[in-house]
Amino acid sequence: MIFNHEIVIVGAGLAGLRAAVEAVETVDVAVVSKVLPTRSHSGAAQGGITAALGNEEEDQWEWHLFDTIKGGDYLGDQDAIEIMVRDAPRAIYELEHMGVPFSRTRDGRIAQRNFGGHTREYGKAPVKRACHAADHTGRVVLDTLYDQTLRHYVKFYAEHYLLSLVFDEGRCIGVVTYNLASGNVDFLRAKAVLLATGGCGKIYKTTSNGFATTGEALSLVYRAGIPLEDMEFIQFHPTGLFPLGILVSEAARGEGGILLNNAGEPFMERYAPKIKDLAARDVVSRAILTEVREGRGIGGKGYVHLDLTRLGEQKIIEKLWEITSFARIYLGIDAVSQPIPVAPTCHYAMGGIPTDGDGRVIADNTGKAVPGLYAAGECACVSVHGANRLGCNSLLDLLVFGRRSGKAMKEEVPAVEVSVVNFDPVEAAKSRLAALMAKEGKEQSHLLRQEMQATMMNHGSVFRTEETLKQGIDTILALRKRFSRVAVANQGRSFNYQLMETIELGHQLDLCEVILVSALHRRESRGAHFREEYQTPDGEAKRNDDEYAYVAAWEYTGEGKPHILHKEQLKFEEVEMKERSYK
Ligand SMILES: Cc1cc2nc3c(=O)[nH]c(=O)nc-3n(C[C@H](O)[C@H](O)[C@H](O)COP(=O)(O)OP(=O)(O)OC[C@H]3O[C@@H](n4cnc5c(N)ncnc54)[C@H](O)[C@@H]3O)c2cc1C
Repeated sequence: MIFNHEIVIVGAGLAGLRAAVEAVETVDVAVVSKVLPTRSHSGAAQGGITAALGNEEEDQWEWHLFDTIKGGDYLGDQDAIEIMVRDAPRAIYELEHMGVPFSRTRDGRIAQRNFGGHTREYGKAPVKRACHAADHTGRVVLDTLYDQTLRHYVKFYAEHYLLSLVFDEGRCIGVVTYNLASGNVDFLRAKAVLLATGGCGKIYKTTSNGFATTGEALSLVYRAGIPLEDMEFIQFHPTGLFPLGILVSEAARGEGGILLNNAGEPFMERYAPKIKDLAARDVVSRAILTEVREGRGIGGKGYVHLDLTRLGEQKIIEKLWEITSFARIYLGIDAVSQPIPVAPTCHYAMGGIPTDGDGRVIADNTGKAVPGLYAAGECACVSVHGANRLGCNSLLDLLVFGRRSGKAMKEEVPAVEVSVVNFDPVEAAKSRLAALMAKEGKEQSHLLRQEMQATMMNHGSVFRTEETLKQGIDTILALRKRFSRVAVANQGRSFNYQLMETIELGHQLDLCEVILVSALHRRESRGAHFREEYQTPDGEAKRNDDEYAYVAAWEYTGEGKPHILHKEQLKFEEVEMKERSYK
C-alpha cells in the first residue's frame, strides 16, 4: 500500500514527538515506531533535563555553555551548543505549560539537582542545573508529549519497522515500512522525512539501553552514501547495576551518593579532587575500571560500590525510588542499608547522522543538505556533545533540536511538489525480504549478535589500543562473512521478530565496523575515546590537538571497500581550546 503524508517522522521518542507537536500545527504528520510509542527509550530517562534556571542557586547559560564544551573535550560545535543552552529555559517552561509534573522546591519553583560536569563559575563547584520529576523524568515528559500529539491528530504507525529510505533524484521522498502485526510492506510517501530513531547501545553486551535501541537507521543513511560522524565516541555510563548493566542514574550521585572501592575509600577524591563523584562520565568510568584493574574492585571482582546509605531513607524514597527499586528487584539489595554494586555500562552515542542546527542532514563537508531528509535526537549529530555528553544534556538536545527540526520541516513542505515516481519501492523491499527469508545456511542471527556484542565490549569500549581495535575490526569482518550464511527459521508473517532482528544485525555490523575504524584512526585520547597508548604518566587522557582537532566523518563506499574520511575543522569562537582536567 501507499500512504501519503506531508511529513513522516520515524521514531516516537522525545525527539520525534517534539518535532511532531511542532509541525502538526500547520501540516499533516505521521509518526512511525517499531515499538508502541510510549515504550521508546526516552521513557527510561531518569535523571532530568538541564537548564540554567538558577532556581536553587545562581546559574548562567554561559556556565552551561562552558561546561558542555569542556565536557565534550572541545570537540563540540560551539554555535550549536550556544543555541541549545540559551534555549534551555524556554524548553523547560514550555514543558511545564504542557503539564509536565516537575518536582518542586519548597517555594514552588521547578526543583533542580546536581549532575556530573555541571558547574558554576566555569568549573569552581558543582551547580544544581538538572530539572527533574523525581527519578522518572523521561517517562512523564514522553507521556505529556504523546498526549499533545493525540490532541493534534498526529497519525501513528505503531509497531511498524523502517525497512528503507526512498530517494528520487537525490531527494528523500518517503520510507518503506514493515508492519510487524500483519507482515505488510508499505510505502509512506512524504515531502520531508525526519529520522529520530535513538541510539545504538544494543551493539554492546553490557548496556543501559532498551531493547529497541539498535541503530539501524544510521546504517541506512550510511549506505545511502551520507557519511556518519564522531562514531568513535561511545559513552560508558559509570554506574550500571553490576552485572546487568541497567542504569543507576547519575542522579544518585547528584543527590549525594558516593563511589567506594574495596577498602571503603571514596576514590573519586583522587581522580577529581574538586568535583569528585560528579566529574564527567568518561573520567568516572575510567576511574572505576582503574580501581578494578589495580585490584581494588569489591572482592577483587569487576565492580565497585555506590553508597546511598548516607542519604537516609526519606530522601531515597522521595528522590530515588525508581532507581533504587532496580537494585531491590534485580539483586535483592536495599539501598537504604546496603551499597549497590556498579560498573560502567554502554549508554550513549555522541556521533551519528550529521545535521545542521535545524535538523537538515548534511551530505558532505561543503555543508550541502540532503533534500527532504532531517534527523534529530540521539541518532543525529548536531555536534552538541562533542567527544563526551554531559548528563541531562541529551533530553535538552531532543527538545531543542526536535522542535527546530519540526519548525524547519513545516516551513519547507508547502513549497515541495510531489512528483510521479517511476519505480516501485514496495516491490523492491518485498523481494529483498523474500530473498532473506529464502536463504539457506547454518548461521543463526542471535548467536552472531552475541558474538558481535562481546567483540564490541572487548575491543571498542572504555579502554582501547591499536591492537584491540585491529582485532575487533577483523572479528567484525569475519562476522559479516558469516552473516551472509544466516537463515531465518521463522517463516511466519505476524510479529516475526527473528526476521526483524536479522535485518537489524546486518545494519549493526556496519555500525560496529565504522565505530572501530574511526577509533583506530584517532591516535589520541579525547573524551569517551581513550587510547591507552596516549595517556600521561598519571593516567590522564592525552589529546593531540595539532593532528586531531577535527570531526571525523566516514563515507561508505561498498561492502569490504575502504571508507573515505572527511574532516571538519573545529571553530573556537566562544571558548578557546584548553587542557581538560577535573583536578
Ligand atoms: C536508562 C537511560 C536513562 C537516561 N537518562 C537520561 C536523563 O536523565 N537525561 C538525559 O538527558 N538523557 C538521559 N538518557 C539519554 C536519553 O534518554 C536518550 O538519548 C534519548 O531518550 C534518545 O531519544 P530519541 O528521541 O533520540 O530516541 P528514543 O527515545 O530512543 O526513541 C527511538 C524511537 O525510534 C524508533 N525506532 C528505532 N528504530 C526504528 C526502526 N527501524 N523502525 C521504526 N522505528 C524505529 C523506536 O521505536 C522509538 O520510538 C538516558 C538513557 C537511558 C538509556
